Amino acid sequence: MLNIRGDFPIIERLASSANGGIVYLDNAATTQKPKAVIDALNDYYLSFNANVHRGVHRLSVLATEKYEEARVVVQKFLNARESAEIIFTRGTTEAINLVAQCYGGLVVDKGDKVIVTVAEHHSNFVPWQQLCLRQRAEFAVLPVDRQGALDISLLEDELRKGSDTNAGISSGADRSSGRGAKILAIAHIHNVTGAIMPLQEIIALAHRYGAVVLVDGAQGAAHTATDLQQLDCDFYTFSGHKAYAAMGIGVLYGKRELLEAMQPYQFGGEMISEVSVERTTFNELPYKFEAGTPSVADALTLSASLRYLQKTGLDKIAAYEQQLTRYAYSELQKIEGIEFYSPPASSSIISFNIRGISHYDIGVLLDKQGIAVRTGHHCAEPLMHYFGINGTVRISFAPYNTIQEIDKFITALKKACQMLS
Ligand code: PMP
Repeated sequence: MLNIRGDFPIIERLASSANGGIVYLDNAATTQKPKAVIDALNDYYLSFNANVHRGVHRLSVLATEKYEEARVVVQKFLNARESAEIIFTRGTTEAINLVAQCYGGLVVDKGDKVIVTVAEHHSNFVPWQQLCLRQRAEFAVLPVDRQGALDISLLEDELRKGSDTNAGISSGADRSSGRGAKILAIAHIHNVTGAIMPLQEIIALAHRYGAVVLVDGAQGAAHTATDLQQLDCDFYTFSGHKAYAAMGIGVLYGKRELLEAMQPYQFGGEMISEVSVERTTFNELPYKFEAGTPSVADALTLSASLRYLQKTGLDKIAAYEQQLTRYAYSELQKIEGIEFYSPPASSSIISFNIRGISHYDIGVLLDKQGIAVRTGHHCAEPLMHYFGINGTVRISFAPYNTIQEIDKFITALKKACQMLS
């Protein structure tokens, strides 16, 4: 076990709260925060709150230094080539929308294709669907199996096909011009199934067919070490709040040459170089995409959380989360009527239903017993339609969870099933 529970003040507080405490198993929605992150937030507002860039006074200089230092921490965490390739956003959603607007709008034309999988979160689905509708491009949606695995040969078929009818669940196609796939947008780890995508293979394949790859790392960054240079990823996005930092901060990584080619989609302070009545020139990277006052305090919490993850060791975290996940899966397997939508060795996420019982009712009865899980469609309605269900129960782990907490959850689940069947 990782000896880090004490680093998270809220975890102990939840455990000792009224009626036997609360076990938090909703970490894929958002993680709890270690003291180091809360201290970073406090420190900024207690000691050196000031707006960044342009200020000559010492507080502004200090805030700017810390803010830019946070960018370097993110760069090193992801092993990006340079910190100018790291753009701060509000989160994954904003980062993907930025790419869909500014890169998608630039390269996707009538008859081109954007590929996603049916397991994408709405944040990595709707922006591409809307882009394709706008541009009259083909929106190709690849299936996954019941455990979330992607058949790479179907991806290759889809990449290869320029003008043919495809094997996926495509819509809105105008394939007459057959110009092929311009963008593949895929999660690092899917938020319903927890299935880990073989990114190295997927990215190399997409590049072979000339497609640019955006990876939605919302469920990836805090659970597995990510080396963007090794992956040769074109765009990577993640949210701070799912990686132990505050809400309101996220990251878009993009290769310099792609970011350089893109026009900004928000205009205002910070992102300009010169403005006259007639014209405006834009600032250099990364500021071109950071219009207005940024979330400085939240960026500093991200800096603190990523340092915390590095200090703890992402490999150790991943190994421990795997241990928890395998244990929970094997205990769940013993429950009558269980239907899994995750592989046995997913990354820290298990989705399931109990035959004949509503996921919502299970969630409510678990809550009454102090177990916090998520139920519903998990912002992945296309996957729910594809599986022919309207939701699942989802448990998701963080390194502060324990085997004892899983035992509590299993006992509570059995009780809920008894009451509901
Ligand atoms: N993608 C995935 C895979 C997610 O799990 C989530 C959050 N549930 C998002 C995107 C969106 O993240 P955010 O709401 O932080 O922008």
